[in-house]
This record gives sequence, C-alpha cells and structure tokens, in this order.
Amino acid sequence: MSGNLNRQLSEREFDAKLSLADFVVGDSDDPLVPPLAFTQWRQAGAWEAALYEPELLATADARTTINYGGKPRSVINLCSYNYLGLANRPEVIAAARDALSKYGMGACGSPLLSGMTDLHRQLERRVAEFLDREDAMLFNSGFGGALGTISGLLRKTDVAVLDNRSHLSLRDGAVLSRSRVDRFKHNDPASLDAALCRRRGKRQLVIVEGIYSMDGDFASLDGLLDVAESHNASVFIDEAHSMLGCGANGRGAAEHFGVEKRIPLVYGTFSKAFAALGGFVTGRVETLDYLRYYAHSYAYSCALPPAIVAAVLRALEIAGREPELRDRLWSNAKYFRDRLNALGIDTGASTTYIMPLVVGDRARMYQLGHELRRRGLFVAPVDFPAVPEDRICFRACVTANHTQADLDEALNIVADTLVPALRQSACVS
Ligand code: PMP
Repeated sequence: MSGNLNRQLSEREFDAKLSLADFVVGDSDDPLVPPLAFTQWRQAGAWEAALYEPELLATADARTTINYGGKPRSVINLCSYNYLGLANRPEVIAAARDALSKYGMGACGSPLLSGMTDLHRQLERRVAEFLDREDAMLFNSGFGGALGTISGLLRKTDVAVLDNRSHLSLRDGAVLSRSRVDRFKHNDPASLDAALCRRRGKRQLVIVEGIYSMDGDFASLDGLLDVAESHNASVFIDEAHSMLGCGANGRGAAEHFGVEKRIPLVYGTFSKAFAALGGFVTGRVETLDYLRYYAHSYAYSCALPPAIVAAVLRALEIAGREPELRDRLWSNAKYFRDRLNALGIDTGASTTYIMPLVVGDRARMYQLGHELRRRGLFVAPVDFPAVPEDRICFRACVTANHTQADLDEALNIVADTLVPALRQSACVS
C-alpha cells in the first residue's frame, strides 16, 4: 500500500489485506510514534494477532499446555524447535542446576573482560572438536552470533551474496557491515553464478543455510559450492536448524552432503536441537581470533549464563551417544509428511523435520489457526512477508519425542479441520 499512512484508514483499505510489509516506512513526525494506520491495523487484527506470542504454561515437550483464550489448553506441540527432545531431559536439567549452584545466575560481563568461565572454554573446545575445526566461539544468542560474525568479517568494499530465503539475522549482519548485499535465487547455482559474476574482483562471501527455516528444504550444497569455488568465494553456512539433527554424527547439512571440508566457516545456534540458547561460530583460529575483537555482539555483550553452557555441553554429549534420537526425528518427520501429503496437504519443498502446511490465504489461515488451537494442535502461523502471499501457511516442526500416537492425533485434527477447509478453496490436490 502506498500513500500517507498517518491518517485514518477507510474500511476498504482494511479489506485490502494489509500486511507487515506495508508499515516499514514511518511517516509520523516522531520516530517513537508508529504510523497511525499500523496502530489501527493492529487493533483491528487483535483476533488474528492472538495466535502470536502464545504463552506456554509448561515445557516445550511434544505435548504441552498453552494459554488459549485465558484458559490452559493442552496441545500437541509442533511449534517448538526441540528437535531431539532435549529441553526437558533430566541430565540436561541436572547439569544446568549444578552449574547454577557453582557459578550463580549470570556471567556478569562480556567474554572479553570477565564473562568467560572454564565451562565456556570447555564448550568452545567441544564444539571445535565435534566439528573438526581449529577453534570456536560462543555468542549469547543465535541471532547475535550471525549478526556479529557477518558484520565483523565483511567490510564496505566487500559483497555478501545471500540466498533470497536467508534468515533475517544473516541479512541484517550483511546490512550492518555496510558491504554490498546481493541475492541469488533460492538454491539456484546459475543465479549464484550470475551474482558472483556481477561483482567479479571483489571479496565475496556466499551465505547459505543448512536447512531453510520456513520451507524445511536443504541447501543444494554441492551445486552452490561448485559455483562459489569457481569464483574463489568463501562460504558461510548457517546450520541453526540442521546442527545435531542432520548428518551421520549430527554435524549438520554439511556432513549430510559430505562437504564439510569445503565450508570454512560454520555457524549454528544452541536454541534448536540443543534446546537451550546461544550461538556459535567455528572455523580457523585466525578468523576467530579476529572476530573476537570485531564481532560487536561478542565483545560488547554479556557471555552466556554458565548454567546454559553446562546444559549445552550435556546436550552435545547426549546427542553424540544417542544417535537413535536422530533416527527417530527423521522417521517421525517422514511418517508425518507422508501422511499429510496423503491427505492432500501441500508441504512445499520440505524434505526435513520442518514442514509448511500451505493454506495460501490469510483470512482462512487465521480462522483455521484458531480452530487448530481449540482442537489442541499447536502449529505456527506464517504470514506474508515471511513467505509469499500465496504460500501463507502453518509451520510444523516434528521432533524425536513425538510418539506415533501424538502424530496420528495431529493428523486427525488436520483431517477434520484443514482438509475440508482447503478442499473448499481447492488447495488440496
Ligand atoms: N538462523 C536461522 C536460520 C534461524 O532460523 C534462527 C532463529 N530461528 C536464527 C539464525 C537465530 O537463532 P536464535 O533464535 O538462536 O537467536
């Protein structure tokens, strides 16, 4: 929508399907005052917005309880990133509790000055060993890790070349670095080649994800790496959703495709399969030694709480000695996706444990979203501009902890709600 947004909106404009993409430019006199139309839009959309920021009243397990409409509602949880089911493992909680007793609550300082503990060092070493790299460093958030790493490495005369489905943390890191930001078509080696040709002669960093967080598809690593190598461009991979979940040993999409040696810098988060919080980057000592001083989100931000570090260390250990968790994750994902597809649900390009359930219409998605919550199925609403308008969907994340009974019950709810609604709008094939 164009025009002045700092005025009353007509009914017709509300009907015109506004989205978050329409309010990026503020046109009030004061930056603290958002566009009037945004505030009106938020008020008018309170029912839709009630699906966001849901309150969990229990752990992020396969079944949990949320606050729905002011009442506790028990749900099958296909929303949380607890891929290996480690969030509530007694050993993980015990490790965190022990660290809490020994080190107290917070790290109380930047890792550079006072926030580093022996536990942090131990986790750095364990991550580097696990991924067979020279060194690793930790960030207090995944988002901050991506932001700090990319903005810390790239300079104004460099080029960040991102897949056009990249996570915002990667894009924001590139913007913050003030380098030129270029994009290539999702997973398309020819498009990457064209992008790299456009800026020939510049230092270029190709940025990809192991598993894409909205579509649940893998990066086409082989083809993209061939192109990057032909241009002598370095590659950075975000393994946020793939670390511990993919590869024979859980070393992510790069291990899954057998290309670890071809990717010099690996980034991941501790908020997904590790079921805690934080981020890491791992690679050559000289790269990380530089980053420790130039990644602002590292040097100028408090280190992770030691209790979290202890929990992550234990999660890493468990994921190493229980590969059956990964097997269960993948068999659950296949079971669920196959049956969704048999019901006629479009799961897009997903080949992993993340899968969109495409609705393709905003009003219908919100209406169904409420119905699903009422019926006890907790999936995430994904609206434009996070996905294209005709791909508005629910996102489901399957975990190792879901039982077949959980998944069957979820499928029954989908069959009773989504399937008839989508059949009406002919989205079910
Ligand atoms: N990268 C990707 C691909 C993500 O999906 C996310 C968050 N979902 C992040 C980075 C940021 O991670 P965190 O939530 O741990 O800050």
